[in-house]
Amino acid sequence: MSVDKITIIVPCYNEEEVLPMFWARVPRVLADIDGCSFSYIFVNDGSHDGTLDELRRLSTEEDSVSYISFSRNFGKEAAMLAGLDRADGDAVVLMDADLQHPPELIAEMVKWWREGYDDIAAKRADRADEGFIKGHVTNFFYYCLQKCSRFEVQRNVGDFRLLDRRCVMALRLMREEQRYTKGLFTWIGYRKKEIPFHVAPRAGGKTTWNYFSLMNLALEGITSYSMAPLRLSSVLGFGVSILSLCYMVFVFARAMLYGDPVAGYPTIMTVLLFLGGVQLISLGIIGEYLGRVFNESKKRPLYLIDEIDGERVRYETRVEPVEKIIRK
Ligand code: UDP
Ligand code: MG
Repeated sequence: MSVDKITIIVPCYNEEEVLPMFWARVPRVLADIDGCSFSYIFVNDGSHDGTLDELRRLSTEEDSVSYISFSRNFGKEAAMLAGLDRADGDAVVLMDADLQHPPELIAEMVKWWREGYDDIAAKRADRADEGFIKGHVTNFFYYCLQKCSRFEVQRNVGDFRLLDRRCVMALRLMREEQRYTKGLFTWIGYRKKEIPFHVAPRAGGKTTWNYFSLMNLALEGITSYSMAPLRLSSVLGFGVSILSLCYMVFVFARAMLYGDPVAGYPTIMTVLLFLGGVQLISLGIIGEYLGRVFNESKKRPLYLIDEIDGERVRYETRVEPVEKIIRK
């Protein structure tokens, strides 16, 4: 039986505290999976603590470990992409460094992968750790996202997943600046499978997400995923115009029939404010998409690498696309 090469990609941002725990646990769990050889790519996403030193040490001690270190914090999405860009396994597994993603699940993912599935995602069986409000807000977000899009949105599914080589290749093709990876996973299609799991509490360190960043992520999700809000503002504008037209006819007829005693300040104010509101909302939505176009049109690289496995990286020339240099 041939050995399947699987690359584990781990984005790390200030994970100095949990990395030793990660390394103490994950390889031991994975050793039980037959017919697979695992290698690890850690991506240091501009950490401010000793994460990089930890990774340097790990990669010199262990043959299966390599690391990429960014020149600054580029975000988890970019970190995952950098891992995908360098992964050469038959499949990759994306997982967090904080052990919230139980490595025991990988055995099951591999099993489904061997049965022919391309994208096996871990689906959270509960969101108990999140509290009442966050849970409901998340549900509402998924509801909106699903309403906005043509294809099936995967609910409560995070980045913890196993991807076949062909999914990796497909994801590499998508070089958009504003990456909403979950939307990208859905977009590529292929044969998907969801397996349930319980999210473990963080093994150490602390989360970098707060309500504000989650709201940003939600907006990003919807606007990078669909044009529905733009359409909504056109529909709204159209609807309001028709209503205003009817109202105009009504006011005009009334003035004709009964005279016009110049009252109507409240109606004018109401209509004025309402229309003003609708216009502002529509402008905001257009601005949201325009900003997106602005960002994409700059065509910047999605991340810059400072160091790979102890070697300093220098981008020699912009003539050759940076993406190509990275892939060498
Ligand atoms: N992460 C990253 N860059 C960032 C923020 C987070 O690479 O800017 C990594 C982090 O090290 C962890 C994973 O993304 O491995 C998930 O982050 P976190 O645990 O903070 O998020 P949560 O589990 O609370 O959603
Ligand atoms: Mg976490």
